[in-house]
Amino acid sequence: MGVFDQKEFRDHQEVSFFHDRESGLKAIIAIHHRVNGRAGGGIRMREYADEQEALTDVLRLSRAMTYKMAMAGAEVGGAKTVVLGVDKSEAKLEALGRIIDGFEGRYVAGEDVGVTPEDILIIKRQTRHVIGGPDDTTSPMTALGIYQGMRAAVQQRFRQESLKGMEVAVQGAGNVAWHLMFHLTEAGAKIRIADVDSAALERASTAYDVTVVDPEEILFQDVDILAPCALGGVLNQETIPHIQAQIICGCANNQLATAADDALLQRRGLLYVPDYVVNAGGVIVGTGVLAGAGAAEIQQRVEEIYHTCQRVIEKAVAEDTGTEAAANSLAEAIIRRAPA
Ligand code: NAD
Repeated sequence: MGVFDQKEFRDHQEVSFFHDRESGLKAIIAIHHRVNGRAGGGIRMREYADEQEALTDVLRLSRAMTYKMAMAGAEVGGAKTVVLGVDKSEAKLEALGRIIDGFEGRYVAGEDVGVTPEDILIIKRQTRHVIGGPDDTTSPMTALGIYQGMRAAVQQRFRQESLKGMEVAVQGAGNVAWHLMFHLTEAGAKIRIADVDSAALERASTAYDVTVVDPEEILFQDVDILAPCALGGVLNQETIPHIQAQIICGCANNQLATAADDALLQRRGLLYVPDYVVNAGGVIVGTGVLAGAGAAEIQQRVEEIYHTCQRVIEKAVAEDTGTEAAANSLAEAIIRRAPA
């Protein structure tokens, strides 16, 4: 099937296929939408069944980046790179750096699944149009954004200004959850946590006052807030009927298994804070650094996630829709107004 005929092809501006003969690198870069001539999005390295699957992924992910950038207030459009195959080499990463450099800043890349901060350093040898690396500080800012989203949801649902006394179930005790636990503890919330990695749990329970829960049970705790901070697809037809938390707000990407799960959550009266709106802290750091913003300004922009989530929730309530639908509609209005 041709690119234009794909269901996932939705007004993309540019889709480029690359093959570096010497290193064997095969990659696709999709630019969904440029704002002020620029688009940004991470590099995903994965084993794809075939080229078709890789193309579908890059088209879907680049469009999602446009929405995320719009809601983050970033003056950059959405794009994505997928690299076919996970057998990495310096030669492949450097070749990718040269390819990204060829866009002359019209595409700015970053880290995504399958790419490490060390890989980014290798890519950086060939281009300055890539953000990230071992000194990256995205996780604390992502966690701050999640905390702001929780505050907005608690305000709306419980008419309470703070998270004091709230019970929060956190799925995953990884990088973002680590910083989130700090904010929750400071705010006086009570934390239940689960992870499949005992070292991560050990680290969390040594530093914070947390109750450890079985990973199979964490989604279904009788708590005020559920924070999915591990995997995608956790909100689905099987799990949603059994969730007891009033609010769902976490950093994991693609928490809804399907678009229909947004309406399912709404029908059950659960307040879901859309993942791509609330987990934009990392993107705000990346685009902020690119624009020359300092740490204080970046933090202020991340704190704005509170108001963005408020607007999303208010729109969903006013229009009696799911929160993801409300966020998408707000994002589309911003995208339409953005200068190309
Ligand atoms: P991470 O790998 O540090 O943490 C994820 C944790 O989840 C790990 O400790 C892992 O063992 C645990 N886990 C995996 N399966 C689990 C299960 N079934 N039950 C419980 N725990 C499980 O990742 P992170 O950087 O903290 O990111 C977490 C999620 O947020 C990811 O989905 C990531 O894509 C998304 N995200 C992260 C950022 C960021 O700035 N790091 C930004 C946006 C989105």
